[in-house]
Amino acid sequence: MIHLRCWGGRSVMTENAPCGKQARTHWYRDTDDDGLILENLIYACGCRYVYHQFHDGSGRARLIRHDGKALIDERSPERGE
Ligand SMILES: [Zn+2]
Repeated sequence: MIHLRCWGGRSVMTENAPCGKQARTHWYRDTDDDGLILENLIYACGCRYVYHQFHDGSGRARLIRHDGKALIDERSPERGE
């Protein structure tokens, strides 16, 4: 189970969301000691960017618009491939 936490006040900013709106965003990031990385960029309008790097070194990045449509859904190969 991964618990997200916010990177303090500096993690809040206003950016152009993937849908084109100006939206306040929040960064969340979590890691464990074995190389797992989970990053979430969450826009106030509901769009979000999620990056997840797994223990084997492979990663998955998704950019999801606030209506639920995945604009990007990419997997990176495992380390060493
Ligand atoms: Zn949006």
